[in-house]
Amino acid sequence: MANKFSTIKKTRVFTRDGEKCQYCGVALVFKDVNSWALDHVIPKSEGGSNDDSNLKLACKSCNSAKGNRDIEQYRKHCAIGKSIYAGIINSMQAEKLIDLGVVLDIPLHLFHFEAVKKASVVS
Ligand SMILES: [Zn+2]
Repeated sequence: MANKFSTIKKTRVFTRDGEKCQYCGVALVFKDVNSWALDHVIPKSEGGSNDDSNLKLACKSCNSAKGNRDIEQYRKHCAIGKSIYAGIINSMQAEKLIDLGVVLDIPLHLFHFEAVKKASVVS
């Protein structure tokens, strides 16, 4: 995946995103090309573009976990994974239960780029 963008574009987004995975916050090394990718925030399969505004630096693990999910679907996936329901129900099942009025104890999940934004608003 990393190969389909120009080196200039990859360098630009890598630098813009502070050399960290925008989802989990892990530090990344540009030269270590197999450890990171430029993730499509809106998946290509959903019509997302290759524009910088639709790209985020992501570690391979987050990039593959996000897959074709959009950001809110990925957030639910991460939140369920951190909750007491991890490994018992998936995010689609959780959504169905919530629709049925079941109250689930699922923690709010913020991504690294949101936590950074929040911190800079506070200071
Ligand atoms: Zn990550």
